[in-house]
Amino acid sequence: MTAAPGELLRDVRARIDAAAQRVGRDPAGVRLVAVSKTFGAPEVLPVIEAGQRLFGENRVQEAKAKWPPLKQQFRDLELHLVGPLQSNKVREAVQLFDVIHSIDRPKIARLVAEEMAKQNRRPSLLIQVNTGEEPQKSGVLPGEAAAFVRHCRMDLGLEITGLMCIPPADEEAAMHFALLAKLANELAVRELSMGMSADFEAAIELGATYVRVGSAIFGGR
Ligand SMILES: *Cc1c(COP(=O)(O)O)cnc(C)c1O
Repeated sequence: MTAAPGELLRDVRARIDAAAQRVGRDPAGVRLVAVSKTFGAPEVLPVIEAGQRLFGENRVQEAKAKWPPLKQQFRDLELHLVGPLQSNKVREAVQLFDVIHSIDRPKIARLVAEEMAKQNRRPSLLIQVNTGEEPQKSGVLPGEAAAFVRHCRMDLGLEITGLMCIPPADEEAAMHFALLAKLANELAVRELSMGMSADFEAAIELGATYVRVGSAIFGGR
């Protein structure tokens, strides 16, 4: 018999607390985003009932089909977009999400700013940094992050709350987490979205304020 999602959630929470304590951090400073992509309401509900309130999705379409009824039912849910944002999905993303982790280019930043003004909604925004400089991966290059954050702040009037990264699959993740933490410090942003099922403890030890955990809570996809 496999463990129920509620039990897996408790285990992940305990590991988060332990990792924070190892480096003298307050565990309350690490927020768990349960990434529920590919899972439907039957899998998500027990995790909500076990007390989880922050959820992440990587596709706007999928989130749009799944979350509005759950948000109606549980008013204090917080929905996070962790996957890349396409320009034709910006309107819906600003409508649906409370936090967007994946602002990654000037055009998307401009469209998000326009939609926020139109809808009078203010999701929190993080910039995705391609720390591994992988051609196929979204995100600004580390060397471009400062100019992009400045552009968002000064030209578009956007408050940028933090940075996000997805390290290359075949490299030591800690090196990328350390780079992201250094950039966030230089740019004076407080949120660090880093760490997934395989490496969230290392991310916490290096300063993560959001960890994005899917399979360790919901099981394999
Ligand atoms: C799927 C996904 C996660 C969660 O991955 P797991 O390995 O299942 O924990 C985190 N971040 C992003 C951007 C994702 O797409």
